[in-house]
Amino acid sequence: MLKADHIEKSYNGTQVLKDVSVNIRQGEKVVIIGPSGSGKSTLLRSISGLEKADAGSVVYKGVPIQEKGAYDRTEIGMIFQSFDLFEHLTALENIMLAPVLVHKESKERAKEKAMELLETIHLSERADYYPQELSGGQQQRIAIARALAMNPKLMFFDEPTSALDPEMTVEVLDIVVELVKDGMTVVIVTHEMEFARRVGDRVIFMDQGTIISDMPAKKLTMSAAENPRIKQFLSQLE
Ligand code: ATP
Ligand code: MG
Repeated sequence: MLKADHIEKSYNGTQVLKDVSVNIRQGEKVVIIGPSGSGKSTLLRSISGLEKADAGSVVYKGVPIQEKGAYDRTEIGMIFQSFDLFEHLTALENIMLAPVLVHKESKERAKEKAMELLETIHLSERADYYPQELSGGQQQRIAIARALAMNPKLMFFDEPTSALDPEMTVEVLDIVVELVKDGMTVVIVTHEMEFARRVGDRVIFMDQGTIISDMPAKKLTMSAAENPRIKQFLSQLE
């Protein structure tokens, strides 16, 4: 579905991604872990088309990701650590906005779908609340619903729960679990290892701008035993 080859990226002369290649198949759940500053967010931005890599290629469904108009950009959704909701719009309006503006859906249709999504994320009763009237976990669920309103085929999550307390983390991860059940292709950067083992098909470990391990999630414990770098990282999380 998405194939990145030999990606290189530098900021101000410092190389952040060094010859990174990754292949994401349709329906796959890929978890990315690794220490702070290892390049996880940069990788996500580079392979989702948000940012252009200095070298290498990223191809989505056979089309270079930077090629404008060649594929439907809205097929790729992205969720960040900060919720980035529009503060002056209600939860419902946040979810309706892009379908109306970008997909030219009628307001009635967009509202109907937004209400369904609010139900999915268990926030129907908060439809008319503004972001500042919602908890962090609720805001992140709205952000996810907003992305889903565009019918994405591939969703990237960059530490979606790192700004949340444990209870809200569970609320948000449960929504991701629902998506996964529906067959969504998901790439997620997270430090929630129990979630990674439960939901992930594959776990990619990044360190200093390279992928040092790309393995089935089931093998994580075994790899940790063999690779001192992974072992050290995982032990810090516990
Ligand atoms: P974290 O777990 O803390 O989110 P990360 O693995 O996501 O870390 P990145 O955000 O990809 O790491 O950053 C990798 C390196 O690139 C860091 O040294 C960072 O300072 C640098 N970097 C990232 N984005 C930029 C930018 N826009 N301008 C300059 N340097 C950047
Ligand atoms: Mg990051």
